[in-house]
Amino acid sequence: MRRRDLLAGAAAMPALAAQQYASRTRGLPRLTIKEVKVIPTSAGRGYQWVFVKVITSEPGLYGLGSASNVNAAFSVINLIEKHYAPFWVGKDPDRIEDLWQSTNVHAYWRNSMIHNNALSGLDMALWDIKGKRAGMPVYDLLGGKARDGVSLYAHADGRDMQQVEDNVRKYMEEGYRHVRAQMGGYGGGGMIAPGKGSRPASGFQGAVFDEDLYVDTIPKLFEHLRVKLGREVKLLHDVHEHLTPTMAVEFAKRMEPYHMFFVEDILPPEQIDWFREIKKVTTTPLAMGELFTSPREWVPLISERAIDFVRNRVSQTGGITAAKKTAALCEAFGVRTAWQEGGDNDPVNQLAAYHVDYSIASFGIQEENHFPPLVHEMMPGTAELKGGYLYGNDAPGLGIDINEATAAKFPLQPPPGGDTWTTVRGVDGGLVKP
Ligand code: MG
Repeated sequence: MRRRDLLAGAAAMPALAAQQYASRTRGLPRLTIKEVKVIPTSAGRGYQWVFVKVITSEPGLYGLGSASNVNAAFSVINLIEKHYAPFWVGKDPDRIEDLWQSTNVHAYWRNSMIHNNALSGLDMALWDIKGKRAGMPVYDLLGGKARDGVSLYAHADGRDMQQVEDNVRKYMEEGYRHVRAQMGGYGGGGMIAPGKGSRPASGFQGAVFDEDLYVDTIPKLFEHLRVKLGREVKLLHDVHEHLTPTMAVEFAKRMEPYHMFFVEDILPPEQIDWFREIKKVTTTPLAMGELFTSPREWVPLISERAIDFVRNRVSQTGGITAAKKTAALCEAFGVRTAWQEGGDNDPVNQLAAYHVDYSIASFGIQEENHFPPLVHEMMPGTAELKGGYLYGNDAPGLGIDINEATAAKFPLQPPPGGDTWTTVRGVDGGLVKP
Protein backbone atom coordinates (compact mmCIF):
# COMPACT_ATOMS: atom_id res chain seq x y z
CA MET A 1 0.00 0.00 0.00
CA ARG A 2 1.27 3.47 -0.86
CA ARG A 3 1.91 6.04 1.85
CA ARG A 4 -0.92 8.29 0.58
CA ASP A 5 -3.45 5.40 0.80
CA LEU A 6 -2.28 4.63 4.33
CA LEU A 7 -2.83 8.24 5.40
CA ALA A 8 -6.27 8.29 3.78
CA GLY A 9 -7.10 5.06 5.71
CA ALA A 10 -5.97 6.60 9.00
CA ALA A 11 -8.07 9.69 8.36
CA ALA A 12 -11.13 7.51 7.83
CA MET A 13 -10.63 5.72 11.14
CA PRO A 14 -12.17 8.28 13.52
CA ALA A 15 -15.26 8.47 11.32
CA LEU A 16 -15.50 4.67 11.27
CA ALA A 17 -15.04 4.49 15.07
CA ALA A 18 -17.76 7.08 15.57
CA GLN A 19 -20.02 5.05 13.32
CA GLN A 20 -19.26 1.85 15.24
CA TYR A 21 -19.84 3.56 18.60
CA ALA A 22 -23.16 4.88 17.32
CA SER A 23 -24.21 1.40 16.19
CA ARG A 24 -23.12 -0.22 19.51
CA THR A 25 -25.11 2.39 21.41
CA ARG A 26 -27.95 1.95 18.94
CA GLY A 27 -27.56 5.51 17.66
CA LEU A 28 -29.13 6.88 20.82
CA PRO A 29 -28.14 10.28 22.09
CA ARG A 30 -25.67 10.47 25.01
CA LEU A 31 -27.15 9.10 28.20
CA THR A 32 -27.92 11.29 31.15
CA ILE A 33 -28.97 10.46 34.69
CA LYS A 34 -32.65 11.35 34.77
CA GLU A 35 -33.56 10.41 38.32
CA VAL A 36 -32.02 8.91 41.44
CA LYS A 37 -34.38 6.87 43.56
CA VAL A 38 -33.59 5.58 47.03
CA ILE A 39 -35.21 2.26 47.91
CA PRO A 40 -35.03 1.46 51.63
CA THR A 41 -36.33 -1.87 52.91
CA SER A 42 -36.15 -4.17 55.92
CA ALA A 43 -36.95 -7.10 53.57
CA GLY A 44 -39.10 -8.85 56.19
CA ARG A 45 -36.12 -9.59 58.42
CA GLY A 46 -35.28 -6.32 60.16
CA TYR A 47 -32.51 -5.54 57.64
CA GLN A 48 -31.40 -1.91 57.25
CA TRP A 49 -30.98 -1.97 53.48
CA VAL A 50 -30.74 1.10 51.28
CA PHE A 51 -30.61 0.64 47.51
CA VAL A 52 -29.88 3.33 44.95
CA LYS A 53 -31.67 3.15 41.62
CA VAL A 54 -30.07 5.34 38.98
CA ILE A 55 -32.58 5.90 36.17
CA THR A 56 -31.19 7.04 32.82
CA SER A 57 -32.62 9.02 29.93
CA GLU A 58 -32.92 5.78 27.91
CA PRO A 59 -36.37 4.33 28.60
CA GLY A 60 -36.09 1.20 30.77
CA LEU A 61 -32.35 1.53 31.39
CA TYR A 62 -31.39 1.84 35.05
CA GLY A 63 -28.80 0.53 37.49
CA LEU A 64 -28.95 -0.69 41.07
CA GLY A 65 -26.40 -0.08 43.81
CA SER A 66 -26.02 -0.83 47.51
CA ALA A 67 -25.73 2.08 49.97
CA SER A 68 -26.71 0.00 53.00
CA ASN A 69 -25.39 0.95 56.41
CA VAL A 70 -26.74 -1.12 59.29
CA ASN A 71 -25.92 1.60 61.81
CA ALA A 72 -26.92 4.77 59.96
CA ALA A 73 -29.44 3.88 57.23
CA PHE A 74 -31.64 6.94 57.70
CA SER A 75 -28.67 9.30 57.43
CA VAL A 76 -27.58 7.65 54.16
CA ILE A 77 -31.07 8.10 52.70
CA ASN A 78 -31.09 11.76 53.63
CA LEU A 79 -27.59 12.33 52.28
CA ILE A 80 -28.44 10.82 48.90
CA GLU A 81 -31.85 12.43 48.50
CA LYS A 82 -30.95 15.92 49.70
CA HIS A 83 -27.29 16.31 48.73
CA TYR A 84 -26.11 13.82 46.10
CA ALA A 85 -29.12 13.18 43.84
CA PRO A 86 -29.26 16.87 42.76
CA PHE A 87 -25.52 16.65 41.92
CA TRP A 88 -25.85 13.41 39.94
CA VAL A 89 -29.00 14.20 37.91
CA GLY A 90 -28.10 15.42 34.42
CA LYS A 91 -24.61 13.85 34.49
CA ASP A 92 -23.38 11.22 31.99
CA PRO A 93 -23.59 7.77 33.65
CA ASP A 94 -20.97 6.36 31.24
CA ARG A 95 -18.25 8.45 32.95
CA ILE A 96 -17.91 6.21 36.00
CA GLU A 97 -14.38 7.24 36.98
CA ASP A 98 -15.11 10.95 36.70
CA LEU A 99 -18.38 10.67 38.61
CA TRP A 100 -16.63 8.60 41.30
CA GLN A 101 -13.86 11.17 41.70
CA SER A 102 -16.14 14.19 41.65
CA THR A 103 -18.60 12.59 44.08
CA ASN A 104 -15.73 11.69 46.42
CA VAL A 105 -14.75 15.35 46.76
CA HIS A 106 -18.23 16.83 46.37
CA ALA A 107 -18.64 17.31 50.12
CA TYR A 108 -15.00 18.54 50.32
CA TRP A 109 -14.36 16.19 53.28
CA ARG A 110 -14.09 12.60 52.08
CA ASN A 111 -14.02 9.02 53.33
CA SER A 112 -16.71 9.32 55.95
CA MET A 113 -18.62 6.08 56.34
CA ILE A 114 -21.92 7.65 55.25
CA HIS A 115 -20.48 9.45 52.22
CA ASN A 116 -18.78 6.20 51.20
CA ASN A 117 -22.14 4.38 51.28
CA ALA A 118 -23.68 6.96 48.94
CA LEU A 119 -20.63 6.83 46.65
CA SER A 120 -20.73 3.02 46.57
CA GLY A 121 -24.45 3.01 45.76
CA LEU A 122 -23.87 5.30 42.79
CA ASP A 123 -20.77 3.42 41.61
CA MET A 124 -22.42 -0.02 41.57
CA ALA A 125 -25.47 1.38 39.77
CA LEU A 126 -23.22 2.93 37.09
CA TRP A 127 -21.38 -0.37 36.51
CA ASP A 128 -24.78 -2.08 36.32
CA ILE A 129 -25.90 0.42 33.66
CA LYS A 130 -22.67 0.04 31.67
CA GLY A 131 -23.00 -3.74 31.72
CA LYS A 132 -26.60 -3.59 30.56
CA ARG A 133 -25.60 -1.21 27.78
CA ALA A 134 -22.75 -3.44 26.66
CA GLY A 135 -24.83 -6.62 27.01
CA MET A 136 -22.14 -8.05 29.33
CA PRO A 137 -21.90 -9.08 32.97
CA VAL A 138 -19.79 -6.62 34.98
CA TYR A 139 -16.97 -9.15 35.49
CA ASP A 140 -16.47 -9.15 31.72
CA LEU A 141 -16.14 -5.37 31.68
CA LEU A 142 -13.53 -5.68 34.45
CA GLY A 143 -11.35 -8.01 32.39
CA GLY A 144 -13.23 -11.31 32.32
CA LYS A 145 -13.07 -14.36 34.54
CA ALA A 146 -9.72 -14.92 36.22
CA ARG A 147 -11.01 -18.15 37.84
CA ASP A 148 -13.85 -20.63 37.42
CA GLY A 149 -15.57 -20.00 40.75
CA VAL A 150 -15.75 -17.65 43.72
CA SER A 151 -14.78 -19.58 46.88
CA LEU A 152 -16.63 -18.88 50.09
CA TYR A 153 -15.89 -19.47 53.72
CA ALA A 154 -18.66 -20.59 56.04
CA HIS A 155 -19.31 -19.63 59.68
CA ALA A 156 -19.28 -22.43 62.27
CA ASP A 157 -19.94 -21.77 65.94
CA GLY A 158 -20.86 -23.90 68.96
CA ARG A 159 -21.24 -23.98 72.74
CA ASP A 160 -18.15 -26.16 73.20
CA MET A 161 -15.30 -27.70 71.20
CA GLN A 162 -17.35 -30.77 70.23
CA GLN A 163 -20.21 -28.71 68.87
CA VAL A 164 -17.84 -26.44 66.92
CA GLU A 165 -16.19 -29.56 65.46
CA ASP A 166 -19.60 -31.00 64.48
CA ASN A 167 -20.58 -27.75 62.79
CA VAL A 168 -17.28 -27.45 60.90
CA ARG A 169 -17.81 -31.04 59.69
CA LYS A 170 -21.31 -30.17 58.43
CA TYR A 171 -19.88 -27.46 56.21
CA MET A 172 -17.05 -29.73 55.04
CA GLU A 173 -19.68 -32.30 54.01
CA GLU A 174 -21.50 -29.57 52.05
CA GLY A 175 -18.28 -28.99 50.11
CA TYR A 176 -16.82 -26.00 51.91
CA ARG A 177 -13.01 -26.02 51.92
CA HIS A 178 -12.81 -22.94 54.20
CA VAL A 179 -14.59 -22.62 57.54
CA ARG A 180 -14.40 -19.88 60.15
CA ALA A 181 -14.64 -21.37 63.64
CA GLN A 182 -15.85 -19.43 66.69
CA MET A 183 -16.94 -20.74 70.07
CA GLY A 184 -19.78 -19.15 72.05
CA GLY A 185 -20.69 -16.30 69.71
CA TYR A 186 -19.29 -12.77 69.65
CA GLY A 187 -16.21 -12.56 71.91
CA GLY A 188 -16.75 -16.23 72.73
CA GLY A 189 -13.90 -18.00 74.51
CA GLY A 190 -13.13 -14.81 76.43
CA MET A 191 -16.44 -14.07 78.12
CA ILE A 192 -16.92 -14.20 81.89
CA ALA A 193 -20.54 -15.12 82.70
CA PRO A 194 -22.97 -12.44 83.99
CA GLY A 195 -22.42 -11.61 87.67
CA LYS A 196 -19.19 -13.69 87.85
CA GLY A 197 -15.67 -12.36 88.47
CA SER A 198 -14.49 -9.62 90.77
CA ARG A 199 -16.56 -6.54 89.87
CA PRO A 200 -16.76 -3.06 91.32
CA ALA A 201 -19.69 -2.50 93.71
CA SER A 202 -22.84 -1.72 91.70
CA GLY A 203 -20.81 -2.09 88.48
CA PHE A 204 -21.88 -3.70 85.18
CA GLN A 205 -23.17 -7.24 85.79
CA GLY A 206 -23.55 -8.55 82.23
CA ALA A 207 -21.16 -10.93 80.42
CA VAL A 208 -17.70 -9.34 80.17
CA PHE A 209 -14.59 -9.94 78.04
CA ASP A 210 -11.24 -11.03 79.50
CA GLU A 211 -8.34 -11.22 77.05
CA ASP A 212 -6.20 -13.65 79.10
CA LEU A 213 -9.08 -16.10 79.17
CA TYR A 214 -9.58 -15.64 75.42
CA VAL A 215 -5.90 -16.06 74.51
CA ASP A 216 -5.82 -19.29 76.58
CA THR A 217 -9.11 -20.76 75.32
CA ILE A 218 -9.15 -20.23 71.56
CA PRO A 219 -5.81 -21.92 70.71
CA LYS A 220 -7.12 -25.01 72.58
CA LEU A 221 -10.20 -25.00 70.33
CA PHE A 222 -7.99 -25.00 67.23
CA GLU A 223 -5.76 -27.73 68.64
CA HIS A 224 -8.91 -29.82 69.08
CA LEU A 225 -10.09 -29.06 65.54
CA ARG A 226 -6.73 -29.94 63.96
CA VAL A 227 -6.50 -33.22 65.94
CA LYS A 228 -10.06 -34.22 64.98
CA LEU A 229 -10.30 -32.80 61.46
CA GLY A 230 -6.75 -33.00 60.14
CA ARG A 231 -4.92 -30.44 58.02
CA GLU A 232 -7.10 -30.44 54.92
CA VAL A 233 -9.83 -28.01 55.96
CA LYS A 234 -8.74 -24.37 55.85
CA LEU A 235 -9.57 -22.78 59.19
CA LEU A 236 -10.26 -19.13 59.92
CA HIS A 237 -10.99 -17.23 63.11
CA ASP A 238 -12.27 -13.72 63.94
CA VAL A 239 -10.92 -11.98 67.07
CA HIS A 240 -13.41 -9.08 66.65
CA GLU A 241 -10.63 -6.59 67.52
CA HIS A 242 -10.85 -7.24 71.28
CA LEU A 243 -7.15 -7.64 72.15
CA THR A 244 -4.50 -5.22 73.38
CA PRO A 245 -1.43 -5.02 71.11
CA THR A 246 1.03 -7.28 72.96
CA MET A 247 -1.68 -9.86 73.62
CA ALA A 248 -2.44 -9.78 69.90
CA VAL A 249 1.22 -10.67 69.22
CA GLU A 250 0.98 -13.48 71.79
CA PHE A 251 -2.27 -14.78 70.30
CA ALA A 252 -0.93 -14.80 66.72
CA LYS A 253 2.13 -16.78 67.91
CA ARG A 254 0.01 -19.28 69.85
CA MET A 255 -2.15 -19.89 66.75
CA GLU A 256 0.86 -20.71 64.57
CA PRO A 257 0.83 -24.52 65.09
CA TYR A 258 -2.77 -24.73 63.82
CA HIS A 259 -1.92 -23.55 60.33
CA MET A 260 -4.63 -20.91 59.97
CA PHE A 261 -5.95 -19.68 56.62
CA PHE A 262 -6.23 -16.37 58.43
CA VAL A 263 -6.86 -14.75 61.81
CA GLU A 264 -9.13 -11.78 61.34
CA ASP A 265 -9.42 -8.43 63.16
CA ILE A 266 -6.76 -9.14 65.75
CA LEU A 267 -6.69 -5.43 66.72
CA PRO A 268 -9.03 -2.43 66.53
CA PRO A 269 -8.43 0.06 63.67
CA GLU A 270 -6.80 2.55 66.05
CA GLN A 271 -3.89 0.11 66.49
CA ILE A 272 -3.22 -0.94 62.91
CA ASP A 273 0.42 0.21 63.10
CA TRP A 274 1.02 -2.86 65.29
CA PHE A 275 0.37 -5.19 62.35
CA ARG A 276 3.94 -4.63 61.15
CA GLU A 277 5.26 -5.83 64.50
CA ILE A 278 3.03 -8.92 64.53
CA LYS A 279 4.05 -9.81 60.98
CA LYS A 280 7.74 -9.80 61.99
CA VAL A 281 7.34 -12.49 64.65
CA THR A 282 4.72 -14.93 63.35
CA THR A 283 3.63 -16.82 60.26
CA THR A 284 -0.05 -16.75 61.24
CA PRO A 285 -1.75 -15.01 58.27
CA LEU A 286 -3.53 -11.79 59.24
CA ALA A 287 -6.74 -10.30 57.80
CA MET A 288 -8.01 -6.79 58.47
CA GLY A 289 -10.28 -4.22 56.88
CA GLU A 290 -14.00 -4.53 57.63
CA LEU A 291 -13.84 -1.34 59.70
CA PHE A 292 -11.88 0.60 57.10
CA THR A 293 -13.33 3.61 55.31
CA SER A 294 -10.20 5.40 54.02
CA PRO A 295 -7.32 4.41 51.71
CA ARG A 296 -5.08 5.90 54.41
CA GLU A 297 -5.91 2.77 56.41
CA TRP A 298 -5.54 0.02 53.82
CA VAL A 299 -2.82 1.43 51.52
CA PRO A 300 0.02 1.32 54.14
CA LEU A 301 -0.96 -2.14 55.41
CA ILE A 302 -0.99 -3.55 51.88
CA SER A 303 2.07 -1.75 50.54
CA GLU A 304 4.15 -2.64 53.62
CA ARG A 305 2.95 -6.26 53.42
CA ALA A 306 1.80 -6.04 57.05
CA ILE A 307 -1.37 -8.06 56.40
CA ASP A 308 -2.14 -11.08 54.21
CA PHE A 309 -5.80 -10.37 53.40
CA VAL A 310 -7.69 -7.09 53.07
CA ARG A 311 -11.31 -7.33 54.18
CA ASN A 312 -12.88 -4.03 53.10
CA ARG A 313 -16.63 -4.00 52.73
CA VAL A 314 -17.28 -3.04 49.10
CA SER A 315 -20.29 -0.81 49.93
CA GLN A 316 -18.33 0.91 52.70
CA THR A 317 -15.22 1.82 50.74
CA GLY A 318 -16.38 3.19 47.38
CA GLY A 319 -17.96 0.34 45.43
CA ILE A 320 -16.58 -1.61 42.48
CA THR A 321 -14.26 1.18 41.30
CA ALA A 322 -12.52 1.32 44.69
CA ALA A 323 -12.45 -2.48 45.13
CA LYS A 324 -10.78 -3.15 41.78
CA LYS A 325 -8.08 -0.57 42.54
CA THR A 326 -7.50 -2.03 46.00
CA ALA A 327 -7.26 -5.47 44.39
CA ALA A 328 -4.64 -4.18 41.94
CA LEU A 329 -2.61 -2.80 44.83
CA CYS A 330 -2.93 -6.17 46.59
CA GLU A 331 -1.66 -7.95 43.48
CA ALA A 332 1.53 -5.87 43.46
CA PHE A 333 2.33 -6.69 47.08
CA GLY A 334 1.23 -10.31 47.36
CA VAL A 335 -1.80 -9.52 49.53
CA ARG A 336 -5.17 -11.16 48.81
CA THR A 337 -8.79 -9.98 49.07
CA ALA A 338 -11.49 -11.25 51.42
CA TRP A 339 -14.27 -8.66 51.03
CA GLN A 340 -16.44 -8.56 54.13
CA GLU A 341 -20.02 -9.87 53.94
CA GLY A 342 -21.51 -9.74 57.44
CA GLY A 343 -25.09 -10.91 58.00
CA ASP A 344 -26.41 -7.35 57.66
CA ASN A 345 -25.13 -7.03 54.06
CA ASP A 346 -27.47 -7.05 51.07
CA PRO A 347 -27.58 -9.04 47.81
CA VAL A 348 -26.48 -6.12 45.61
CA ASN A 349 -23.30 -5.58 47.62
CA GLN A 350 -22.69 -9.34 47.54
CA LEU A 351 -22.91 -9.36 43.74
CA ALA A 352 -20.70 -6.27 43.41
CA ALA A 353 -18.06 -8.17 45.41
CA TYR A 354 -18.66 -11.27 43.25
CA HIS A 355 -17.99 -9.46 39.97
CA VAL A 356 -14.74 -8.06 41.36
CA ASP A 357 -13.75 -11.46 42.86
CA TYR A 358 -14.18 -13.15 39.49
CA SER A 359 -12.02 -10.73 37.58
CA ILE A 360 -9.01 -10.06 39.83
CA ALA A 361 -5.72 -11.90 40.19
CA SER A 362 -5.46 -11.12 43.91
CA PHE A 363 -8.70 -12.83 44.97
CA GLY A 364 -8.40 -14.76 48.21
CA ILE A 365 -11.83 -15.69 49.54
CA GLN A 366 -15.35 -14.31 49.89
CA GLU A 367 -17.26 -14.35 53.17
CA GLU A 368 -20.47 -16.38 53.09
CA ASN A 369 -23.82 -14.60 53.45
CA HIS A 370 -27.15 -16.18 52.58
CA PHE A 371 -30.65 -14.77 52.36
CA PRO A 372 -34.15 -16.06 53.16
CA PRO A 373 -36.56 -17.08 50.33
CA LEU A 374 -38.43 -13.76 50.53
CA VAL A 375 -35.25 -11.89 49.55
CA HIS A 376 -34.66 -14.18 46.55
CA GLU A 377 -38.26 -13.48 45.50
CA MET A 378 -38.01 -9.72 46.10
CA MET A 379 -34.62 -9.46 44.39
CA PRO A 380 -34.48 -11.74 41.34
CA GLY A 381 -30.89 -12.60 40.48
CA THR A 382 -29.75 -12.84 44.13
CA ALA A 383 -26.66 -15.05 44.14
CA GLU A 384 -26.90 -18.73 45.14
CA LEU A 385 -24.50 -20.60 47.44
CA LYS A 386 -23.60 -24.17 46.55
CA GLY A 387 -20.84 -26.41 47.84
CA GLY A 388 -18.63 -23.58 49.07
CA TYR A 389 -18.97 -21.39 45.97
CA LEU A 390 -20.99 -18.27 45.17
CA TYR A 391 -23.03 -18.29 41.97
CA GLY A 392 -24.26 -15.09 40.36
CA ASN A 393 -25.54 -15.16 36.81
CA ASP A 394 -24.33 -14.03 33.41
CA ALA A 395 -27.04 -11.43 32.81
CA PRO A 396 -25.78 -8.05 31.61
CA GLY A 397 -24.75 -5.71 34.44
CA LEU A 398 -24.74 -6.94 38.03
CA GLY A 399 -27.52 -9.43 37.24
CA ILE A 400 -29.97 -8.41 39.95
CA ASP A 401 -33.21 -6.45 40.17
CA ILE A 402 -35.64 -5.38 42.88
CA ASN A 403 -39.40 -5.60 43.11
CA GLU A 404 -40.12 -2.17 44.56
CA ALA A 405 -43.71 -3.00 45.54
CA THR A 406 -42.47 -5.92 47.69
CA ALA A 407 -39.65 -3.79 49.14
CA ALA A 408 -42.18 -1.10 50.10
CA LYS A 409 -44.20 -3.66 52.06
CA PHE A 410 -41.27 -3.89 54.49
CA PRO A 411 -40.32 -0.34 55.47
CA LEU A 412 -37.15 0.38 57.43
CA GLN A 413 -37.63 0.44 61.17
CA PRO A 414 -35.42 2.62 63.36
CA PRO A 415 -33.14 0.27 65.33
CA PRO A 416 -33.95 -0.06 69.05
CA GLY A 417 -31.88 2.15 71.36
CA GLY A 418 -29.54 0.98 74.09
CA ASP A 419 -26.30 -0.99 74.12
CA THR A 420 -25.46 -3.28 71.23
CA TRP A 421 -22.79 -5.88 70.45
CA THR A 422 -20.39 -2.99 69.77
CA THR A 423 -20.32 -2.05 73.46
CA VAL A 424 -18.60 -5.07 75.00
CA ARG A 425 -17.26 -4.35 78.51
CA GLY A 426 -14.46 -5.64 80.72
CA VAL A 427 -14.86 -6.80 84.31
CA ASP A 428 -14.32 -3.27 85.66
CA GLY A 429 -17.04 -1.93 83.34
CA GLY A 430 -14.61 -0.28 80.90
CA LEU A 431 -15.32 -0.49 77.16
CA VAL A 432 -13.52 -3.14 75.08
CA LYS A 433 -13.39 -1.67 71.57
CA PRO A 434 -14.61 -3.66 68.59
MG1 MG B 1 -14.49 -9.46 61.62
